[in-house]
Amino acid sequence: MKIILLGAPGAGKGTVAKMLTALDGSVQISTGDILRGEVQAGSDLGREAEGYMKRGDLVPDSLIMGIMEKRLQAPDCQKGFLLDGFPRTVPQAEELKALLAKLGIVLDMVVNIDVPTDVILDRLCTRRTCANAGCQAIYNVKSNPPKKEGICDKCGSPVIQRDDETETAINHRLATYNSKTAPLIGFYEKEGLLKTAVGTSSDAVVSAIKAELGR
Ligand code: ADP
Ligand code: ZN
Repeated sequence: MKIILLGAPGAGKGTVAKMLTALDGSVQISTGDILRGEVQAGSDLGREAEGYMKRGDLVPDSLIMGIMEKRLQAPDCQKGFLLDGFPRTVPQAEELKALLAKLGIVLDMVVNIDVPTDVILDRLCTRRTCANAGCQAIYNVKSNPPKKEGICDKCGSPVIQRDDETETAINHRLATYNSKTAPLIGFYEKEGLLKTAVGTSSDAVVSAIKAELGR
């Protein structure tokens, strides 16, 4: 499947993407995970992105497009992909459209995961992430804590609160989402690709996507 997942920070894009990869071997492509990996590795790209990310600002479109142009041509994308956190601005969506046309890739759909703001805020404040760049498993201190406090079940690395998950940065990320990313809902509606999945449960979102794909 070739799907774009839209939704505010904390809407569950990453969780839904991970669940969908299990269905048919499509890969999850999270620009946030890629960028955090670059920051941890201390690469040029990481150094450039770090400040923006810490503040909850978007990194420049040109940087993201450079990453994605390469990523979408990697062999593991042949079976399909779930874009999680990209595109994030109208210019990114326009450039992606041109890139997909150039590569001869046709999207199945764009799913907007619509979750109420109070649920989002609660989730982001209680979210914890595995610090290992190669893992980045997601936990929640209330609803899905690791078996051993502060330790990732999957890889044994520390489970931490992200730098951009302080209250100030969270509010800034949500404001950025509303001004820069929410317009993509209209963009993809016009393209005839938009499906909306209302729901606070990722299971329900996955079922809705499966039904839409006819599987
Ligand atoms: P969330 O969806 O929870 O906000 P992500 O992990 O997707 O978090 O992204 C974390 C940060 O990485 C963003 O706040 C932003 O700084 C940067 N980022 C990720 N994807 C993009 C993108 N497509 N365009 C610009 N910045 C991005
Ligand atoms: Zn881990």
